[in-house]
Amino acid sequence: MLDIHQFTYGEDNYGVLLHCRNSGDTAMIDAGDAYAGELALERTGWSLSQIWITHHHDDHTAGLAVLKAKHNAHVIGPATRGKPLAGVDQQVDDGEHFSFASREVKVLTTPGHTLDMTNFYLPHEKLLFTGDTLFAMGCGRLFEGDAQMMWASLSKLMALPSDTTIYCSHEYTATNATFALSVDPDNQMLIDRARQVTDLRASGKPTVPTNMSLEKATNPFLRVGDGAIKTAINMEDKSEVEVFAKLRKMKDNFKG
Ligand code: ZN
Ligand code: FE
Repeated sequence: MLDIHQFTYGEDNYGVLLHCRNSGDTAMIDAGDAYAGELALERTGWSLSQIWITHHHDDHTAGLAVLKAKHNAHVIGPATRGKPLAGVDQQVDDGEHFSFASREVKVLTTPGHTLDMTNFYLPHEKLLFTGDTLFAMGCGRLFEGDAQMMWASLSKLMALPSDTTIYCSHEYTATNATFALSVDPDNQMLIDRARQVTDLRASGKPTVPTNMSLEKATNPFLRVGDGAIKTAINMEDKSEVEVFAKLRKMKDNFKG
């Protein structure tokens, strides 16, 4: 059994600590804020052994140097074609594995938001860390990659078991739900989920983690093959990639 501690930082970021009671090993997923990371370690009493970096953006890396120096943690991060990200000890690429607390962690690259986006999957725990690729009812903006790349990345994640637990890096769920309802208004599971999200946020609670079956049922970016969504955005005869590209553009310009 792994213990999980999710903590907030910045405007809407989530960091996660993963801890094994037997070995005492602790991993932090992303290191965007040294102070918040330190506080999470203090609260849990866990000592940091690994840091896993999903991508190069500041809100995921800004605290890395301080946390690494203080805890002498081993840093695992994206395989870059050129110079590795500052502070990364071990670059990992798609399909590779590394070990954490005697467990297998599988590396899935999911380019689109950035070209270096790296996700982490623990098959035995069915635990997935999606960074800024897959959000609750949403997906990351296309800063470096294109729609085709991002759709391929999301499809890769969708091939994982439906009972996979998903931790993403931002609390964007309420605005994602508003957009989802605008393109999928008759989806009863989405309507119900949006209501739950409103309640959770009203009481200051996180909507993350989520899971794959819920995302497949309510996340419009995973539902680009769905007839109702295609009709709602006038793309009946279009391919999944084309529908995805249009949805992503609509979301970029969406004023909920
Ligand atoms: Zn990012
Ligand atoms: Fe981010």
